[in-house]
Amino acid sequence: MPVKSITSDQSLIAYCGLYCGACPKYLAEKCPGCHENNKAGWCKVRECNIQNNYQSCADCKEFRNPMDCKKFNNFFSKIYALMYKSDRAACVAKIKAEGYRAFASYMAVHQMQVIKRK
Ligand code: SF4
Ligand code: SF4
Repeated sequence: MPVKSITSDQSLIAYCGLYCGACPKYLAEKCPGCHENNKAGWCKVRECNIQNNYQSCADCKEFRNPMDCKKFNNFFSKIYALMYKSDRAACVAKIKAEGYRAFASYMAVHQMQVIKRK
């Protein structure tokens, strides 16, 4: 049973574009969300964003399309994308187009953790 409810909160946008605010683990208080989850030391995307002081890959100055980045578009992310039909690059594109606040609001309203591949 979720403990928290889904709300719009920019700080819950993960570095890779997922919306932790709608993740079952976050809602059940089993994970503090990507930004606060210091146990996720394995994640190169998280590490890269922290080093560059970015809020997410939408701020990246090196890659316009994160799919061109091997850290973002890695083996595990490809498996994850296939399993969950997820499109994190679409999340990053939406953040770039509409901003963090609008993206958090959109994801909260639609109760979505990630934009699905069409
Ligand atoms: S894959 Fe990395 S950047 Fe994305 S939510 Fe998980 S820890 Fe955060
Ligand atoms: S796209 Fe790649 S290089 Fe750019 S911030 Fe994300 S992980 Fe870092």
